[in-house]
Formats: sequence, structure tokens, C-alpha cells
Amino acid sequence: MPIDPTKPYDPSNIFARIVRGEIPCSKVYEDEHALAFHDINPQAPVHVLVIPKGPYVSWDDFSERGTDAEIAGFVRAVGKVAREQGLVEPGYRLLANVGMDGGQEVPHLHVHLFGGRPMGPMVR
Ligand code: 5GP
Repeated sequence: MPIDPTKPYDPSNIFARIVRGEIPCSKVYEDEHALAFHDINPQAPVHVLVIPKGPYVSWDDFSERGTDAEIAGFVRAVGKVAREQGLVEPGYRLLANVGMDGGQEVPHLHVHLFGGRPMGPMVR
């Protein structure tokens, strides 16, 4: 069920609980601003989610309220994870679903990082 993007950040969402260590994840990277872990239902041989540690609902929310340090830290973390996963040379896809039409289901910003095979058409 896609999220309602008009609702304020819900600190009980599943990714907030993962950031707080209340729920386990298969972690691949962590720094001051970001956490990356394998998606529980992978759609590609590599399917990693990268999230900011701060309380942001979506890309829209983060790009408006995030500090310059958080935004720079997050963007650098996404690139670092892709490099560490060996995805740069074969190539990969980044995806951030936003709101209802985007099909966003978890109300904490996350970037999907897909790789390990050709990704095919951009939008079905
Ligand atoms: P969205 O549709 O919001 O862009 O994507 C949410 C993603 O989160 C989905 O790909 C889903 O498989 C993943 N996901 C949902 N709950 C969990 C969880 O508890 N752990 C992990 N690792 N991934 C989750």
C-alpha cells in the first residue's frame, strides 16, 4: 500500500526501527549519515537499500529539509556502496519511489540500488 506523502514522519516505520537497531538488517555499509542493507525481497542479483539516518519521509522531504551535510553524506554513501558492491563497471540502476504514484511503501527515504544483470526498460 503506497504511503500518504502528506503525513508527517512516523518514527515507528520499519526503516526507522532498523536505524535504531530494534530490527535486524543485512548491513552492507554504515557511516554518520547513511545506512545500507540488502532488500528483504530482492528484485535483482544485487538489491541494496541506502537510507539516510535522519527522519525524512521521502526524496521530496529530504531535498527540502535535509542539511547540506546530510545530503552530501547521503549522496556520497550511495556512490560508495555502489563502488563497494562492484557495480560501477557493469553498471547499475538507482531508484527512489516517492509518494502514491511512485509506489513508495516505506515512509523513510530509501534509494534502491539494483545491479548484477542488465536492468531492461526504465519504466514498465
Ligand atoms: P518502496 O516500494 O517503498 O520503494 O520499497 C520498499 C522496499 O523495502 C521493498 O523493496 C521491500 O522489499 C523492502 N523492505 C520492506 N520491509 C523490509 C525490511 O524489514 N527489511 C528489509 N531489508 N527490506 C524491507
